[in-house]
Amino acid sequence: MTSLTLDLSHARPASAPVVASPNLAGMTRAELATALVESNVVESAKVKMRASQLWRWMHIDGVTDFAAMTNVSKELQAKLAARFTIARAEVIERQVSKDGTRKWLIRTAPGIEIESVYIPGVGRAGALCVSSQVGCTLNCTFCHTGTQALVRNLTAAEIIAQVQVAKNDLGEWGTPNRPLGDGDGERMLSNIVFMGMGEPLYNLPSVAKAIEVIADNEGIAISRRRITVSTSGVVPELQALGETTQAMLAISLHATHDDLRNELVPLNRKYPIAELMDGIRAYPGISNARRVTFEYVMLKGVNDSPAEARALVKLLEGIPAKINLIPFNPWPGSAYECSSWSTIETFAAILNRAGYSSPIRTPRGRDILAACGQLKSESEKLRASARRKLETAQ
Ligand code: SAH
Ligand code: SF4
Repeated sequence: MTSLTLDLSHARPASAPVVASPNLAGMTRAELATALVESNVVESAKVKMRASQLWRWMHIDGVTDFAAMTNVSKELQAKLAARFTIARAEVIERQVSKDGTRKWLIRTAPGIEIESVYIPGVGRAGALCVSSQVGCTLNCTFCHTGTQALVRNLTAAEIIAQVQVAKNDLGEWGTPNRPLGDGDGERMLSNIVFMGMGEPLYNLPSVAKAIEVIADNEGIAISRRRITVSTSGVVPELQALGETTQAMLAISLHATHDDLRNELVPLNRKYPIAELMDGIRAYPGISNARRVTFEYVMLKGVNDSPAEARALVKLLEGIPAKINLIPFNPWPGSAYECSSWSTIETFAAILNRAGYSSPIRTPRGRDILAACGQLKSESEKLRASARRKLETAQ
């Protein structure tokens, strides 16, 4: 490909602070109030008002400096700055695809490099695909992230940081007089999908806190019905996900029988399809207006026959469902190929006849390796490429 539009900007500061002050921009409202009082920066009688002022500056205006808070006295600004930070996470790489997809590599701590991707034209206006872990423990055989060992769970602040970086890059901060509300026509970032690196249900407490902040009406205000959490099927956590977040649910199904799903999604050996389906049926709040999305990656000669399409329809009977057919995104060394377009169309036609509409997800951002399942931390890729170079040199 020769027509790539790559805008790479590298910005590495010479040194990072050794001990980081707590970042108020990654806290829930309750944590923010506690932090302000416990540090003796704000007295309890005033904390509600102060927390609310700070919240609006951070989550509506996107300010990164206490000095910009014009309704906060200089004295209080100085006290806040001495104890806390509201700095944005460091973007170490930024890429823009010719189709408008944007990818950021963010570093939040030494060795913690997080990828997130903005995809225009998905959901109401555009979706941000966020990561919940660096690496993953689950080793799905078609997934690039699955080849990288888990480094660690991300904190809520690190999940929120991905949204803040995207909003900033998209020029999406509002003003206190004119905040961008949910459903605002000017918004580019309308939806959040937890489909980046990692298994969100193995990090539910942080995912739930992050959703609480992102969905807050007086802040970033992306409503819970526009936030989707994708899971490979951690059945025991489904109920808690629904109850604590009221987020939309997506299930990475990929196969209609246990033999094949055991192979593709090894977690299936622990929670087989029948158990998974029972868990989904019990998911709080599902209805025809709030359908469960089933993701199905199209793997040539593996799971893409018409018989499997019919089996899928049968399996989903009685569940308010949407189906997302994902063309397999190959990555260097992957053992699978993507199904041919005509096979995908035949598969989709069977689903359409059963009443499921527009199920093929068009590949986006392929030129910047931004598509699903391709996120893997850059440091890991560099290590792998250094290893390969060493091997060829020997
Ligand atoms: N761990 C969660 C969320 C992250 S993966 C999960 O598995 O659901 C997000 C989606 O990308 C999942 O549906 C996953 O199956 C899919 N995916 C992973 N690798 C892929 C690849 N190479 N091509 C297409 N989709 C892929
Ligand atoms: Fe992990 Fe999801 Fe990739 Fe499976 S598909 S290895 S659960 S990130």
